[in-house]
Amino acid sequence: MISHWIDGRQWSEKPERTGKVYDPATGEVQNEVALAGVGEVDAAVAAARDAYPAWRDTPITRRQNVMFAFRELVVQNRHEIAKLITSEHGKTEPDALGEVQRGLEVVEFACNITHLMKGEFSEQVSTGVDTFTMRQPLGVVAGITPFNFPAMVPMWMYPLAIAAGNSFVLKPSEKDPSPSLLCAELLKEAGLPPGVFNIVNGDKVAVDRILEHPDIAAVSFVGSTPIARYIYENGTKAGKRVQALGGAKNHMVVLPDADMELAADAAVSAGYGSAGERCMAISVVVTVGDAADRLLPHITARIAKLRTGPGHDPDSEMGPLVTPEHRDKVVGYIGQGEAEGADLVVDGRGYSPEGYEGGFYVAPTLFDRVQPGMKIYEDEIFGPVLGMVRVEHFQDAIDLINANPYANGTAVFTNDGGAARKFGNEIQVGMVGVNIPIPVPLAFYSFGGWKSSFFGSSPIYGPEGIRFYTRQKVVISRWPDPIYRGVDLGFPQHGR
Ligand code: NAD
Repeated sequence: MISHWIDGRQWSEKPERTGKVYDPATGEVQNEVALAGVGEVDAAVAAARDAYPAWRDTPITRRQNVMFAFRELVVQNRHEIAKLITSEHGKTEPDALGEVQRGLEVVEFACNITHLMKGEFSEQVSTGVDTFTMRQPLGVVAGITPFNFPAMVPMWMYPLAIAAGNSFVLKPSEKDPSPSLLCAELLKEAGLPPGVFNIVNGDKVAVDRILEHPDIAAVSFVGSTPIARYIYENGTKAGKRVQALGGAKNHMVVLPDADMELAADAAVSAGYGSAGERCMAISVVVTVGDAADRLLPHITARIAKLRTGPGHDPDSEMGPLVTPEHRDKVVGYIGQGEAEGADLVVDGRGYSPEGYEGGFYVAPTLFDRVQPGMKIYEDEIFGPVLGMVRVEHFQDAIDLINANPYANGTAVFTNDGGAARKFGNEIQVGMVGVNIPIPVPLAFYSFGGWKSSFFGSSPIYGPEGIRFYTRQKVVISRWPDPIYRGVDLGFPQHGR
């Protein structure tokens, strides 16, 4: 049984409800996870609230040292974290290791907390008056995370929140909760006091309690768009600061002058990596002019060589999907695309590697001549299904992307600097790649889409993450000076 982590230890009470944790490679249920009710969420929030004052007052250099120690422990345990990811999520081990590495970068950024929390100071804004700002933590903050990056996405949140002096309650995905529990143990080993980091496993019941809990000051969410919207609306209604990152439909534009080999490598890597279960996966390739007919053979040649199999097998390049329900949903979309008249160039349905017939596999699938209006174009499929849309002009590609409600990531493949610059300037999407298919910024920048891919004002991690997990206080100070004594009901004008 996978339980909660509250006040520095595993929660031992028997849960009222549990969920299944699969091994997607075999299809077997490998464990059960406790699903929290209101009581468990309240216990986690109470532990976080009690731990907060002492943690906030812990010298910033000591908080920084906990992050340095945690960083070392994550490095030492990265293979173990990756194995847990592969076992519950299904992605290949090298991909899981890459995920740990991208999470680690945020931990490393949080090791700079002494610099990141600095305020500003202005001397003598009026006679004998100085002004300074400081950034202070918010209190108890919560994170609610998706299944597709069970270690990295929580790490987008808690290292910065904790280093800044907050205490944290994490509600990871109930589909793959174990990597976060291992990280909780590593944080403890790194010297983090009990109660500063807590985990409640669960579903909507736990999420709803987090959203309404009066002791939680802020909520970070990453997941699908309908839930992101729900979290943003309900969290802000309850007076909380909310950042909610949603789903995606990422387009990659290929211009006729592009290096077609490079573009094919990028489309296949970004379309089928992690079986398409990435919020920055490319799901639509938009070819301009005659690019389609030149690109397509390169893509199909690469797909033919891809090996789909269990994530722990070093020969596998793509693993299974996360649950049987998700596999069935993806298979359903492929049938719908066929019925709606798109050309099914490569059909990945019905595949399973030998000895793993019960696993949740869908092999790489490719549609050509996808049209806006088709379900496979409109919806986020979140599986290994790539669609090609053919347009005549570059401007048609830009207009198509700008008309899409999702706006997480996008990319252009071209050798024309002017075209790339126009794309960067005019495209209405939060993260843009030029000859780079998955433009995920490093941890010293911030990550966030636009439109229905993001609700809130502060993107996640990086400098925006620090702003999200702290608030500014300004202090205007004057030490007594006899010249300025006396009552004055006029509005203060410090500059005079
Ligand atoms: P999801 O929205 O189903 O679940 C995310 C979290 O919300 C989980 O912790 C889950 O327990 C909880 N949840 C689910 N249903 C809920 C409900 N009805 N009420 C309250 N809480 C609920 O997402 P998922 O399937 O775990 O993850 C995949 C999605 O996440 C995709 O849409 C993907 O694009 C998105 N994603 C976005 C980003 C980003 O940075 N924008 C990153 C990773 C994943």
